[in-house]
Amino acid sequence: MSEQGSKIDRRTLMATILAGGLTMPLMTRASDAADKAARPTSAPTQNPLLWAVAWSETAAEFGALCHQAFNLATLRVDQATEKFRNSDRPLAVITDLDNTIVHASSYWGYLLKEGIDFFDDGVWDKWIPENLITLVPGAFEFLNHCKSKEVEVFYVTSRNQGPNTYDYALKQLQYLELPFADSAHLTVYRETSDKTPAREAVRQTHELILLLGDNLNDFKRDYYVKDVDERFALMERDRKDIGQQFIILPNPTDGHWVRAIFGESEPAGTEQNRQILLEAATRRAWDGIEVGSGETNGST
Ligand SMILES: [Mg+2]
Repeated sequence: MSEQGSKIDRRTLMATILAGGLTMPLMTRASDAADKAARPTSAPTQNPLLWAVAWSETAAEFGALCHQAFNLATLRVDQATEKFRNSDRPLAVITDLDNTIVHASSYWGYLLKEGIDFFDDGVWDKWIPENLITLVPGAFEFLNHCKSKEVEVFYVTSRNQGPNTYDYALKQLQYLELPFADSAHLTVYRETSDKTPAREAVRQTHELILLLGDNLNDFKRDYYVKDVDERFALMERDRKDIGQQFIILPNPTDGHWVRAIFGESEPAGTEQNRQILLEAATRRAWDGIEVGSGETNGST
């Protein structure tokens, strides 16, 4: 983050947030000819990511789901502050970063424009330092509500952009003027997506009242399984916790649900993987009408 970037007018910042997001200044170009040449691509209009990104970029329903999550989270914080008003232990929430409180809109748009149809780690690692992150609708207000209620916010993320990973993440939080944006409240796991130790550490010193994430793994490590039906079963097991101690945000583009399909979170953009994705998406597909099975009445 640059000094120039940190001097954004606060009113402009708030107006932009209320309009649905915050875009940071472009600092470097995220393109590399050699990487591009080596990368398998598909026709942009046939990119499997297209509907997912179009939805999160254009559907007011996406924003509404985010607000629904943060409105519910706000209610839970208020209930907890009342419940624990006589407790000596400070209250805390833990939130994930990506696709929970911040968005990577321009990253996904870039992939689509380049014909890349699977999460691309190389592009991601170049995109992060560009500091083009945006706020998820409702996140800013919720996090500041926590601060107003003296509920500490701990940020826990799994990212790896090399030795500067932590610095990138911390400066993004500070640029966005989020509360508790300091090293005491940020944990970055570069080598694992297991956030259990961070949750346990916060529980040692705080009453942990709420977890926020876009991935069930943000709540429990149990969900780190490579089977779609098993993840569903685990989710049903914990259904009473959802909306209570677990607040989930919508993410149609990536996460461990992808790992459950492919066996890895960031599968290569190969024809074989496109076929696996098709089979996963059509696993409950209608068999269809047999040709010559009868006349239609023309209605839909
Ligand atoms: Mg996330």
